[in-house]
Amino acid sequence: MAANDAGAGLSIEELRQRYEIEQRKRLRSDGMAQWSELSEELDRDPFVEPGFTRAPVVEEVTAVIVGGGFAGMLTAIDLGRHGITDVRIIEKAGDFGGTWYWNRYPGCMCDVESFVYLPLLEEIGFMPSEHYASAPEIFEYSKLLARTFDLYPKALFQTDVTDAAWDEEAMRWTVSTSRDDQISAKFLVLAGGILHKAKLPGIPGIEDFEGKAFHTSRWDYDYTGGGPTEPMDKLADKRVAIIGTGATAVQVVPQVARAAKELFVFQRTPGAVGVRNQQPTDPEWFASLKPGWQRERIINFTQAVTGSQPEVDLVSDGWTELMWVDTQLGGDTEEEVAELERIDFEAMEGIRRRVDEIVEDPDTAARLKPYWGKHCKRVCFHDDYLPAFNRPNVHLVDTEGRGVDRITPAGLVVDGVEYPVDLIIYASGFEVTTDLHQRLGFDPTGVDGVALSERWAQGAHTLHGVLASGFPNMLLISLVQGGFGTNFSHLLSESAKHVAAIMEACIEQGIDVIEAEPVAEDEWLSVLHKVGFRGARYFQACTPSFYNSEQQAIDQRAARNLTYTGSLLDYVGYLERWREAPDFTGVRLRRSGDPA
Ligand code: NDP
Repeated sequence: MAANDAGAGLSIEELRQRYEIEQRKRLRSDGMAQWSELSEELDRDPFVEPGFTRAPVVEEVTAVIVGGGFAGMLTAIDLGRHGITDVRIIEKAGDFGGTWYWNRYPGCMCDVESFVYLPLLEEIGFMPSEHYASAPEIFEYSKLLARTFDLYPKALFQTDVTDAAWDEEAMRWTVSTSRDDQISAKFLVLAGGILHKAKLPGIPGIEDFEGKAFHTSRWDYDYTGGGPTEPMDKLADKRVAIIGTGATAVQVVPQVARAAKELFVFQRTPGAVGVRNQQPTDPEWFASLKPGWQRERIINFTQAVTGSQPEVDLVSDGWTELMWVDTQLGGDTEEEVAELERIDFEAMEGIRRRVDEIVEDPDTAARLKPYWGKHCKRVCFHDDYLPAFNRPNVHLVDTEGRGVDRITPAGLVVDGVEYPVDLIIYASGFEVTTDLHQRLGFDPTGVDGVALSERWAQGAHTLHGVLASGFPNMLLISLVQGGFGTNFSHLLSESAKHVAAIMEACIEQGIDVIEAEPVAEDEWLSVLHKVGFRGARYFQACTPSFYNSEQQAIDQRAARNLTYTGSLLDYVGYLERWREAPDFTGVRLRRSGDPA
């Protein structure tokens, strides 16, 4: 059946209707319940030698940081600058790097310009080799940061936190791990990552498949051959399926297309793919940068993508030119609404035209066009994804919004047709809006032994997404009631700076316990609601995704588990004003000697 490609030249009203049709195709009653967890076997870390053991650690430290990605590393670096070095970083993986440790799939790179993405470049004096750094380079850079700031002696790798309990009398956290460590800490920092818990589509029969299968964040190079930068030489006689067409799949597809005998891309919602224009970096330009350049560039990028339109657009790429978001989204007046909608449609029309320009088969081109608003999902930028569909060995299997119907021992079934394959690659993403304790893999217990899952059973309670009532001296870096930004590392750097500053101030001022006041949490929630309300109409019209919890009906919990959807710079402003004010407000403080 030929796809109905009515996109070209449609009026705004017609496009609006088309978006609605596409949204309806993709809506499903099981919402977030459609996903399943990775089995222990699929979740296993393929990048470490099996059999690692070590003696349990029993100690007292100032802070336990859960997570060795950028958030955890930057927190430890900041604390170190203030002389607080008795810090433990607990990390499930075998090294630092977080998402850049796990995601070693071929073609993996950062879609945000490396000069604004990689933290502390100016201080380290490191020049990334390309404008959009590859995952191997970012992983190496993470290790360089860890060596430069002496983080390795502080790390416990291949270790899962199994429990963290607040001891009211000692005014400390007791942290237990999968390697029988017992660590007592004044502060507990939860920097467990935003996109770290991989998920699988709950397709019937998924466990019956008899071929090879893995998630993109657990790439098995023993099976595919090659490596992140080497061609995969063992796929030449293999039929491969990729499930997904999100930011990960867009990077993987061209690589597998080159290596495999046949590649079947199973699409539910077409991704949006703009121009990448990857370039090597210019050492002369890098040498000419003036002190303070990186901070200036990071802020300039965030201004540009949040619609503040700085005088000069320093990065000037697809994000800043096309995908900028007016953080008012919905607009204030009907004219503003209409204008923003027109801009949005135009940007997406450009993306759709690009498909026609590149993809030779008109039916395939029609099916690859995304019909959703530019902020409904993460737009991708890539120059090899669309051309891959011109190869005779690459086949698009469009599931028209439904997803793969069934998996059999031999392959995948869509519309009654079975596609036999040797390998299934799940590019099916990560948990983002599920309960925090589920993503962390443990459930901290706070005052009176109340678990986080219990306290937040009807949704989160935090001040700025950082401090939480009932959980003294616990500091969060997550999206739950926290900020959000195109450049995640800008968000993580600012969050890390904030949590480190809180700990440093407590130590300097002899504060033993800091805990958010419920009334301040309510005030913060009303800020989140006020900002979120403006974009509500826009997001309602979106195709389902993890941005909107699969368009599941908004219940009381979801109404609390929000992120700050305004500009990241505004969110950072809230944090800065709060910490620069003379006294902490909205928190309970206790000093030794205070009555309990
Ligand atoms: P996503 O959640 O964005 O994509 C998952 C894909 O799997 C979607 O295309 C989804 O379809 C598809 N899918 C799910 N279930 C089924 C099914 N039953 N049948 C067919 N298809 C199915 O995950 P990604 O890993 O691609 O990206 C996650 C995030 O990671 C990104 O948004 C981005 O923030 C980050 N990322 C960043 C990169 C960077 O360069 N900075 C690179 C890669 C990822 P549908 O769209 O219909 O839900």
